[in-house]
Amino acid sequence: MTDDSPEEPRDFIREQIRADMAAGLHDRAVTRFPPEPNGHLHIGHAKSICLNFAIAAEFGGHCNLRFDDTNPAKEDQAYIDAIMEDVRWLGFDWGDNLHYTSDYFEQLYDWAVHLIGEGLAYVDDLSPEEMRDYRGTLTEPGRESPSRNRGVEVNKDLFARMRAGEFADGEKSLRAKIDMASGNINLRDPVLYRILRETHPRTGDAWCIYPMYDFAHGQSDAIEHITHSLCTLEFEDHRPLYDWLIDNLLAPARPRQYEFSRLNLTHTVLSKRRLVELVEGGHVSGWNDPRLPTLSGLRRRGIPAEAIRDFIGRLGITKSDGIVEMSYLENTVREHLNQTAQRRMAVLDPLKVVIENYPEAGDDQLDAINNPNDEGAGSRKVAFSREIYVERGDFMEDPPQKFFRLGPGREVRLRYAYLVTCTDVVKNDAGEVIELRCTYDPESRGGNAPDGRKVKGTIHWVSAEHAVSAEVRLYDHLFTQEEPGSGEDWLDGLNPGSLKTVKALLEPSLADLPAGETVQFERLGYFCRDADSTADNLILNRTASLRDTWAKQKARG
Ligand code: ATP
Ligand code: MG
Repeated sequence: MTDDSPEEPRDFIREQIRADMAAGLHDRAVTRFPPEPNGHLHIGHAKSICLNFAIAAEFGGHCNLRFDDTNPAKEDQAYIDAIMEDVRWLGFDWGDNLHYTSDYFEQLYDWAVHLIGEGLAYVDDLSPEEMRDYRGTLTEPGRESPSRNRGVEVNKDLFARMRAGEFADGEKSLRAKIDMASGNINLRDPVLYRILRETHPRTGDAWCIYPMYDFAHGQSDAIEHITHSLCTLEFEDHRPLYDWLIDNLLAPARPRQYEFSRLNLTHTVLSKRRLVELVEGGHVSGWNDPRLPTLSGLRRRGIPAEAIRDFIGRLGITKSDGIVEMSYLENTVREHLNQTAQRRMAVLDPLKVVIENYPEAGDDQLDAINNPNDEGAGSRKVAFSREIYVERGDFMEDPPQKFFRLGPGREVRLRYAYLVTCTDVVKNDAGEVIELRCTYDPESRGGNAPDGRKVKGTIHWVSAEHAVSAEVRLYDHLFTQEEPGSGEDWLDGLNPGSLKTVKALLEPSLADLPAGETVQFERLGYFCRDADSTADNLILNRTASLRDTWAKQKARG
């Protein structure tokens, strides 16, 4: 499913646009990204954003950002603000092309009245439950509502009174009069307007009736002269309704809708309904919890926007539904950060090492390369001293032959520093190793001995005297299953080990790690500063490990 040439994407949507332009139907492509402001954007939305903005740019048009704000019960200004921030962060600019469906409420109302006048819409008295009952099933036709054959004038009057607030929520609705026997349930007299007393983030209490998404959506596209309305496959069955409405409404344009498959990812959920439940149920710390697939969560996790755009580009656009491995996203992130991230040293599980023949005092500053993949990133000084910390996992008391790290009598290279040999192991009363004693070779400054002896292993370290401490948050998949269940018990699949916190020791330069910069801790992974950090409590997030430890664990069973 990967596309080897993301620079020149070719897919059925772009082919269609090329054909439309060749046929003289359009001279450019105008698209839109139409989020409902009822939650934060997730990486699935990024697929739609990247596609719509890229196509507009490739075909000389523009992409509108349109808030589909037709359900004030679930929408909020805070979501509008968050969505704008996320789209910008992802790297797209809608310029002046910002719209709200609510700006079209008056026009949509007039169009509804027009449909009534044409005998194509009626006010129904059925309650939502009764309506469901009348709708029929995939195998049985629906039944006509007793209100269906009301006269035009009665309907006009009732609809005006709906707007004027004369009826209770749910007491009446406006429905299109299409075909209760249609094989497409969306054409069985769909509801166009419902009564809903909720204060709207933009129109306040001006309205107590709101257009349904299916009525507002296609018409908003027409008002904005969208040429290609791109959406996900679940709207394919709604297209006949959108076309019916456009045919009957004297709309100013005729946008064509094309459907592509949604992005699905393993080990997570990409549905706003479920994300809301995770956030409101306190299962995560908020919409930007670094374990969530929300754009704000991925950003806080330290994932660069460029890596997300690249990931989406590699997937390409198709009509076939599938699920993408989370490890594919993680690999793309690693690939990017491997090129761009500066290297630092940090120890996540510290074990003290005393270098017995090293001078007590002194100021030994070693040169460390910032990024072997980017010469321009230069180097920095790292302070060395007699007492250092190494990773507990880099020592074994009784190591096998192939363990090229520390063990009694074994020599190892300290990254950028010296060769050291372990001479003694100190234990506590419980028999646990609490300290190593080593000697160093003063001739090996920089990491190599003049006698040319081979030392295979290199480990990272921090100087005890200079290290800064930090809380490091290690993240794993939010769900243990590849595909979280769809039943009531889907939350049971939450991974209890999705967040582990450790007290780590870092090389001093990390005290000033700027927010928004992700660095590589040598041999460990990629990390960034978390927004919860304070002056005296540095907190870091693990963006990604260096290898796919999860897949390895799984392979082992
Ligand atoms: P959800 O299904 O998660 O509740 P939604 O699709 O209802 O989200 P909208 O705000 O209506 O959310 O989505 C805006 C646009 O983003 C729509 O055009 C929709 O098709 C697209 N979109 C949403 N989820 C995905 C996804 N997983 N992959 C690709 N596009 C998506
Ligand atoms: Mg939607």
